[in-house]
Amino acid sequence: MTMTIEAAPDMPSANRPGRLLAGRDGWWAVHEDRVARLPGHAARETAHGPELVDEARVALEDQHFFAAPVQTTYAITVLTATACNLGCSYCFQNTALPAEGSFAPPRMPKAVLSGEDVTRIADFVRGQMARYGFTESSLLLFGGEPLLNPAGALDMLRAMQPLGLHKAEIITNGVPLTRSRAVELADAGLRRVQITFDGARHNHDTIRVTRNGKGTYDTILRNVRNAAEATDLSWHFRVNISHRTVDSLGALVEDLAAAVPAERASLHLALIDDIGLGYDNKVAYTDDYLEKVVALHDQAIGHGMYIPLSKPLTACQYCSAFGGTRGAVVNADGRLYNCWETAGRDEAWVVGDVSTGLPARRRHPGPLGRLRLRHQVPRLPRADPEVLRPGRRRRARRHVRAAPPPRHDLITPATAAAPDRSRHPVGDGGPLSDRGRAATADGEGVGHAEVG
Ligand code: SF4
Repeated sequence: MTMTIEAAPDMPSANRPGRLLAGRDGWWAVHEDRVARLPGHAARETAHGPELVDEARVALEDQHFFAAPVQTTYAITVLTATACNLGCSYCFQNTALPAEGSFAPPRMPKAVLSGEDVTRIADFVRGQMARYGFTESSLLLFGGEPLLNPAGALDMLRAMQPLGLHKAEIITNGVPLTRSRAVELADAGLRRVQITFDGARHNHDTIRVTRNGKGTYDTILRNVRNAAEATDLSWHFRVNISHRTVDSLGALVEDLAAAVPAERASLHLALIDDIGLGYDNKVAYTDDYLEKVVALHDQAIGHGMYIPLSKPLTACQYCSAFGGTRGAVVNADGRLYNCWETAGRDEAWVVGDVSTGLPARRRHPGPLGRLRLRHQVPRLPRADPEVLRPGRRRRARRHVRAAPPPRHDLITPATAAAPDRSRHPVGDGGPLSDRGRAATADGEGVGHAEVG
């Protein structure tokens, strides 16, 4: 079955307050970071595009669908170590592809979070929260591989507890996440783990390899299984799709579903491609790809796993708010960056320091920074021309088809509710969810390639 989605123009009138997308048997209303699934009679076509009927508009208003989003947590990302035990060729923290026969691509400069840095960061967060009126915080532990510095990760979690730590997440490659380490982290306040896979064993073990070339699939799965048994952590699995992995994804979903209780697991599939280093990907946003993703989503949902809905493009709490008013990204040496995709890079990317703070407006990042910011800053969140591109339409369609049917006559409350804006972009992409292809240093939905 194929659901047709037509992108509508912005909705300037009272009954067109956001975007309305036509589905096969209803409508999707999108406003800021909210999405609601509506029945067919909730909107009508007009000469100016689709409009909500009054009853639907009032029902959405009653659920505060059009209220300005409120961010209640100060969001901090901290790199505890910039080095990594793996040598993924696509990692956006690499500075070049690995040499012929090597599994150790050159990386950005090394830094390790110290106890003194933890204190400085906590003081900085305390000051920012007081200045901008936050009483709760969220923490993302990031790297490199953050568990190459387990003491730093634990110290950071504990230091954030008096600061109203509301949610705490780690993006790890999973190799150092032993059962005992997972218990320590959970006891210190960690709630969620994101781990990336590149297909099932025979694919993953040729891509996510140690820096001397050894496969990691069995180690990661064993660690996940043991940690899931010993803690109540929830799990977010990011799966990179390329021509190297696309044929083993069904087997991977089976392995993941067997490793953790389904009610604590979510899945995010994302294409991965070159960030300028030469890592190619022959898979593109075609109808074949769409069908494959839908089938994989169906398979995961059949096991009870959660597939997060795509988030509309909205202002990023890091790079869209000058001066760290809503959140900050901190390298292991205490220097501040505007994005986890640039964190840990050389001086040209630094926007401040936790000891001296952030300028009211960040320094200009230079020509490469301007290029990057074009991917990171949602300049057109309302009239988003990306929505009109075929690739975007297909991606949107994928998520629409994976969503559950509406349970109420007019609006599904669960989908009308505003997602927590303190979520980090990591794709499920976060901070970086579904803004485009994965660019891994296992980031969640950053612009193009990956970290984690
Ligand atoms: S993608 Fe993640 S695991 Fe792979 S090298 Fe980069 S930081 Fe390490």
